[in-house]
Amino acid sequence: MARDKRKKIFVFSSFSVLFLIFSFVLLSASSLTDEKEIISFTRETDLKALAHSFPLDPLMTDGKKIYLLVDRKYLDSIRQAGYAFTLETDRFNFDINRKTKSGLNLQSGLNGAYHSYTELSLALKSLAASYPTISRLYILGKSLENRNIYALKISDNVTIRENEPKIALLGCHHAREWISVEVPLLIADYLLKNYSQDIRIKNIVDSAEIWVVPLVNPDGLDYSIFNYRLWRKNRRLNADGSYGVDLNRNYSYQWGYDNSGSSPEPSSEVFRGAEPFSEPETIAIKNLFINHRFSAVISYHSYSQSILYPWGYVDLPTEKEELFQQLATAMADLIYQVNGRRYEVGRASASLYLTNGDFTDWVYGFFQIPAFTIELPPVDRLHGGFVNSEEDIQNIFQENLPAALHLMEWAVSTFEGVRKEVKFEPKIWLEKRTENVVKDKSAVFKGKESR
Ligand SMILES: [Zn+2]
Repeated sequence: MARDKRKKIFVFSSFSVLFLIFSFVLLSASSLTDEKEIISFTRETDLKALAHSFPLDPLMTDGKKIYLLVDRKYLDSIRQAGYAFTLETDRFNFDINRKTKSGLNLQSGLNGAYHSYTELSLALKSLAASYPTISRLYILGKSLENRNIYALKISDNVTIRENEPKIALLGCHHAREWISVEVPLLIADYLLKNYSQDIRIKNIVDSAEIWVVPLVNPDGLDYSIFNYRLWRKNRRLNADGSYGVDLNRNYSYQWGYDNSGSSPEPSSEVFRGAEPFSEPETIAIKNLFINHRFSAVISYHSYSQSILYPWGYVDLPTEKEELFQQLATAMADLIYQVNGRRYEVGRASASLYLTNGDFTDWVYGFFQIPAFTIELPPVDRLHGGFVNSEEDIQNIFQENLPAALHLMEWAVSTFEGVRKEVKFEPKIWLEKRTENVVKDKSAVFKGKESR
């Protein structure tokens, strides 16, 4: 993939940031630079008043404490203002010697071989430019901080909407799950590169429309790269001064069903937002799905090596439990054959923990189509948690490729035509800043916005 080193050097020097990571322990992470400290307050602290006087960057809570990133120069003033805090920077300090032991090799900047938002933009534009007859780059919407949420459409006759099954591959609802950007991106790359020489790929691309959205949460991803590695949510400034909505709890199906599958607390890691679809990032995804009748969907996350399907909000089977079980098992078997890694299969509610307002429940709940969450490696925190070595990116992609192809072929083989034409057409912005991307000539994307 194309890289953007100049940008990276610029960002690196100008942000003078936290380095990287490791998450053998919950709060592993960043080696802080000279200017920043991490401090914690008890939950009773009036953060709203505090945030009024000082620029604070809330990182996370662990039940009893709230952790914030702050410029060192403010520490004295905060203390003088009567706020008691604990300096926690050491807890987050990254032992540089671990880097080699872990296999983590930062060859090219903070995020190494992983894509930042800017690098991903370039990679997608480059793919769309290299394969103009079978791919098109769309912007589904803008993030809170005005980054694009891209969708790469892959199909023959790509400029028109055909009566073909549509499959969506999404990545990175959660910022720190970097590998979940790479897998859908590499699958897109593989389809495009092998179209002309691999009859199996040609058949899929000719008879389906594949929509790849590798980065649902661009603000969060860049925050995870340049500020705090274990950041999860988007970058919404909440009413109480904390940051972030969990985008995978912000969809409308059974939103806020209970407070264990998501949280009403803004500072929580699983804060569901003030209302369903309160976030521009989830609205962008909603618009794509209202605009297109999909036949099958995979949403990539990490970690835990599992393939999950609805329901997540309650521990009950859907009406399609048997089909979901079959498809998930077939995918897990295909994955196992590549590198011998076993992905567990099951209902989301039974496998990990309850989740409400998540993407796959919404997709199945509203559209009745198979929707899978694939939790990529590693299997647990001891094996790296949210951090995968750069060397493992290819392995993880390769083992997931046959599973994704299988689901695409299933969608093609069971397709019965579009049952009902979509009534509302959301506004889909086209990429204008690059001539790489063709302008949309057909009328199919015109129409009303349906937020
Ligand atoms: Zn996730």
